[in-house]
Amino acid sequence: MPVEFAPTLPTFADVAEAAGRLAGMAHRTPVVTSRTADSRTGGSLFFKCENLQRAGAFKFRGGYNAIASLDASARAAGVVAFSSGNHAQAIAYAGALLGVSTVIVMPADAPAMKVAATRGYGATVVLYDRYTEDREEIGRRIAAEQGRTMVPPFDHPAVIAGQGTAALELINEVGPLDLLLVCLGGGGLLSGSALAAAELSPGCRVIGVEPEAGDDGRRSFESGRIVTIPVPQSIADGALTTALGQMTFAIIRERVSGIVSVSDAMLVDTMRFFIERLKLVVEPTGCLAAAAALHGIVPVRGKRVGVILSGGNVDPASLARFLAS
Ligand SMILES: *Cc1c(COP(=O)(O)O)cnc(C)c1O
Repeated sequence: MPVEFAPTLPTFADVAEAAGRLAGMAHRTPVVTSRTADSRTGGSLFFKCENLQRAGAFKFRGGYNAIASLDASARAAGVVAFSSGNHAQAIAYAGALLGVSTVIVMPADAPAMKVAATRGYGATVVLYDRYTEDREEIGRRIAAEQGRTMVPPFDHPAVIAGQGTAALELINEVGPLDLLLVCLGGGGLLSGSALAAAELSPGCRVIGVEPEAGDDGRRSFESGRIVTIPVPQSIADGALTTALGQMTFAIIRERVSGIVSVSDAMLVDTMRFFIERLKLVVEPTGCLAAAAALHGIVPVRGKRVGVILSGGNVDPASLARFLAS
């Protein structure tokens, strides 16, 4: 029998410890409410604005916590990550703040703005051809050759614990909730949020929201085993994962009440709502949880509902296109 890699799952204690590490480093993002949203849905909605987090998304929390958790020799050797999105910028920025060298493996056809932002935070960007090369292999090779620690985007105890601090702050600020709606890609944010809610607001139902085109999370949740799908087509580019992680799935199975999905049209409508009503720029992926409430996918009438707005990184040209559609 092969020995399986079975790291211990993070617990609430790890989320609380991450909150200590992040104090004064991550923004304590605002929680906003909207009478329009409340009257449209019949619930009391509390939006946690991680679109206003450092580097533009909650990913800074997990990335910073993971790097800050390394011992001195690992810090000195640096880290490596592969991502074309918010994880890349989070790791680059967290590394810069902690004085840890970062290498980010990005596809050669990634938006120039994202490559520039990642370099701007001080990372070394290694480009690869996404059609002929395997980014994980490149990442592993760089890790092995340079002694760097790989920081994955979601399936890692310190990443999950760091992501959970957004829900921790939200519940500490507004009090117990009946429902907590969280977007779902690989499940780092959802599993960390579920750990925080179970401890700080027992009885709160936690629901994951994924794009309709990529409902692997719901299928995994319902079948009890991780379902892998082809890369989904959706404007929610931060949630185009093909499978949940081993650790995130284990926590989600135990602590999450359900998983639902929303359409791209609902995401566009929700982006427009946040711009018109709350003057907030929320990227398509960041709208997943809110869209489920505003479009009645999850009934919220009479309930106190936490909604995490996970990120705000959308370039102006794409934003204009979405709003015109
Ligand atoms: C990464 C990301 C997600 C998905 O988070 P997971 O932890 O992979 O589930 C959602 N929204 C934004 C803005 C992201 O950057």
